[in-house]
Amino acid sequence: FARAAARFAERDALIEAAGSGGAGAARRWTYAQLAHDVDAAARGLLAAGVVPGERVGIWSPNCAEWTILQYATAAIGAVLVNVNPAYRSHELQFVVKQNGMRMLVVAPSDRTSDYVGMARAALAECPDLRELVFLPAPHAPAEGASFEAGAPSSPEETTWDGLIARAGEVPASAVAERAATLAPDDPVNIQYTSGTTGFPKGATLTHRNILNNGFSIGELLGYTEEDRVVIPVPFYHCFGMVIGNLAAFSHGCATILPGRGFSPAATLQAVEDFGGTSLYGVPTMFIAELALPDFADYRLSTLRTGVMAGSLCPIEVMRRVIADMHMRDVAICYGMTETSPVSTMTRAGDSLEQRTGTVGRTMPHLESKIADPATGETVERGRIGELCTRGYAVMAGYWDQPEKTAEAIDAEGWMHTGDLARMDEDGYVVIEGRIKDMVIRGGENIYPREIEEFLYRHPSVQDVQVIGVPDAKYGEELMACIILAPGAEPLDAAGVAEYCRGRLAHYKVPKYVDIRESFPMTVSGKVRKVEMRQEAVERLG
Ligand code: ATP
Ligand code: MG
Repeated sequence: FARAAARFAERDALIEAAGSGGAGAARRWTYAQLAHDVDAAARGLLAAGVVPGERVGIWSPNCAEWTILQYATAAIGAVLVNVNPAYRSHELQFVVKQNGMRMLVVAPSDRTSDYVGMARAALAECPDLRELVFLPAPHAPAEGASFEAGAPSSPEETTWDGLIARAGEVPASAVAERAATLAPDDPVNIQYTSGTTGFPKGATLTHRNILNNGFSIGELLGYTEEDRVVIPVPFYHCFGMVIGNLAAFSHGCATILPGRGFSPAATLQAVEDFGGTSLYGVPTMFIAELALPDFADYRLSTLRTGVMAGSLCPIEVMRRVIADMHMRDVAICYGMTETSPVSTMTRAGDSLEQRTGTVGRTMPHLESKIADPATGETVERGRIGELCTRGYAVMAGYWDQPEKTAEAIDAEGWMHTGDLARMDEDGYVVIEGRIKDMVIRGGENIYPREIEEFLYRHPSVQDVQVIGVPDAKYGEELMACIILAPGAEPLDAAGVAEYCRGRLAHYKVPKYVDIRESFPMTVSGKVRKVEMRQEAVERLG
C-alpha cells in the first residue's frame, strides 16, 4: 500500500458516501491521507503489542476504518480476520475461539445488532481475546438510523481514536522495520467462507495469494487512476476486500462506499454523485437495482465496467446490465474464498455470448481442470465434471483444520471447488452449479441452473431458484421457488407446467411451485438453497 500511496499521492483513494447528507457530507481520503491514517493505525497496533501472525478481527459492515485496518494489519504482519457482520453471539464466539483472536475491532451497535454488547460477552468468554476496539458511529447516518458506539469501561477496551492516539508511543520507522521482516507467504487474512453449504471454514490467505489476485483482476478490468470503483459488496468477503480494495488500490483507483448495508437506491446514487466508472455486485443486487421504480432517473452513464460474481447470473440480467447500466465491459468473475478468490474471469474482448453464458477463462498464472469427481481424472472437453484450480491463489489451508484442508487440496496442489462445470475448446468455463445442488430424479442428473434460466424468461418471474425435495417414488422432485415480478399475474404449479410443456423434458418440469417474497441469503448475497430445501421438506411433511 505504501508504494501505491507514494505513486498516486494526491488522487482520491476512498470516499465514504453519507447516508442521507448528499455528496457534500461524504468523508474523503486522498492516497497520501489514507497512507497517513494507515501508518497511524499500524503504529497504534504495534504500540498495543500486536506481533506477527497474531489475529486481529473486524466485525463491522463496510466503513472507511475497515479499509484502513486492512492495510494497517498487513503492514505489521498481523492476520486480519473478517467477521461476518450478520453473526450473532454464538457465531462470533465460535470464530473468535476457532482462530484464537487477540483483538477485535467492533462496529457501533445499531437497531438490528448489539455489536458492542455481544463483543463484551465474547471478551468475557474467550480467553485469547484480550482487547476490544470500538469504531465510531457513522458521521452522517441515514435518516432514522441510530447508532451507539462502545464507550470503553475497562483497560481491555479502547476506541478507534484511542488506538490511533497510541501511534506516538512507537518511532516513525517502526512500521517499515516490521514490514521488512515479513515474507510473501506469511498469512495476512483469515476469511471465512460464505457458509452457503454448511458452517463456514476459515480459509487462510497469504500476502502472495490476495495481492497478486487483486492486482491481476485490476489488470484485466483495465483499471487506471481515472477509475472510480463503487463497492456495495461486503468487505467481510473477498469480493469487497480483494476484487474491490486490492484491485483498485493497486491501480490508483478511487473506491466509493455507498453505505453500510446494501441499498439499491444508495448504490445507484453513489454512482451518480461520485461519477462511478465501475460497479460491483452479486446478481441479486443488480436485479434489485434494475427493479427500482425510478431506475431510469439515475445518471449512470459514467459507468463502463464492473464485476458480477458470487453466483450464476441469468443471461437477461447481464444483457440489461450491459445495455441499461452502460457497463459494456462488465466482467463475470468466478471463484471462491479458498482461491483468493478469482480463478476464471471474462475479458473485455469476449463476445456477448461468452460474457453472458460463461465465467470466462482461467486467470493468468493459474490452472484449471475439469475432473471426474469420483476418479479425479480429467474429463473430455465439453463434458461436465468438478472444476479444480491450481496455482499461486490457492489458500495456505483452512485455519487449524488440517483434515478439511487435505480433503479440499489434493497432493498435486489442486483445489477441488465442489462446483460442476464444463470447458469449451477455447478454454471458456461454464458453471453448472454446485455438486451439492445437483438434483437426481429417477436416476436423471438435473442441473437446477438450466431450469432457472428457462423460468426466468417467464414474464411473471422476477427471480427463481430451483431445488430438489425428497420424493418416495423418484428419490427427488423439483420445486421452483419464485419471486413474482411487481404486479404480475399469479403463478402456480399448473401454470409453470403449462409454460414448460413441449419446451423442457418432462422430468425437468418442477412438480411444486412455491411463491415467496424473498430467498434466505448469506451476507455475501448468495441464496441459501440448503435452508430453502430444509424449509420445503418441513412444509411438505
Ligand atoms: P461455503 O463454502 O461455506 O458453503 P460458499 O462456497 O458460498 O460457502 P464462497 O467462497 O463465498 O463461499 O463462494 C464460492 C462459491 O460461489 C463457488 O464455489 C461457486 O459455487 C459460487 N460462485 C462464485 N462465483 C460464481 C459465478 N460467477 N458463477 C457461479 N457461481 C459462482
Ligand atoms: Mg465453498
